[in-house]
Amino acid sequence: MKAIMFGPPGAGKGTYASRLKQKLGVETIATGDIFRELIKEDPELGRKVRDYVEKGLLVPHEVVVEVLKQRLSKIPEGKGFILDGYPRTLEQAKALEAVTKIDVILLLDVPDWLIIERLSSRRICRNCGAVYNTRFLKPKVDGVCDKCGGSLYQRSDDNPEVIKKRLQVYEEQTKPLLKYFEEKKVPFVVSKTTSLDQPPEPIVDKMIEELKRRKFA
Ligand code: ADP
Ligand code: ZN
Repeated sequence: MKAIMFGPPGAGKGTYASRLKQKLGVETIATGDIFRELIKEDPELGRKVRDYVEKGLLVPHEVVVEVLKQRLSKIPEGKGFILDGYPRTLEQAKALEAVTKIDVILLLDVPDWLIIERLSSRRICRNCGAVYNTRFLKPKVDGVCDKCGGSLYQRSDDNPEVIKKRLQVYEEQTKPLLKYFEEKKVPFVVSKTTSLDQPPEPIVDKMIEELKRRKFA
């Protein structure tokens, strides 16, 4: 299965992708995670992307595509993958098309109010990147990752001003891609979230059921 997890910031792309990875044994490529890692660990490339990420703007095309191609090339032939956070522009979608065919779009349908609530209470594990929420997806111990014991932090771009910018970028540059994929006749599996207290597991299970029914997994 070669899939794109598609949806606005805070829709749960990373949360669902990491669970599908465990349950289906596919690889995931999360461009946002990769950039945060580069900022921490690679002074040269990190300097190039930091400003964009912190302001909620898109990292320049050449850098994103370079990173994507590098990661894709590491995935063993025949192994499935889920892209989380890529593509975000028409240009990126076309660059992807030139290197691989996508089987299915996993579309997350989440209302705006819910995104804002979620992002402002989101916490991330510094060590393994697992995602929590101080209101509805709490860790067992405050501030500590259930999975690895790492400490949890709030992303610097999860503040009201930058959230607003990210949503605007999504509306203007990323959402129009849906039409592009529709025209290309790429199949969609749609998952709808309607309330803040919906736990991820049933949504993931339904996604898998649908993927199996349609022979993608
Ligand atoms: P979210 O989906 O919650 O906004 P991500 O972790 O996917 O968060 O992305 C964080 C930031 O990383 C984005 O705001 C952007 O600056 C950068 N980024 C991630 N993926 C891309 C991409 N495909 N193209 C350009 N910039 C990206
Ligand atoms: Zn962790």
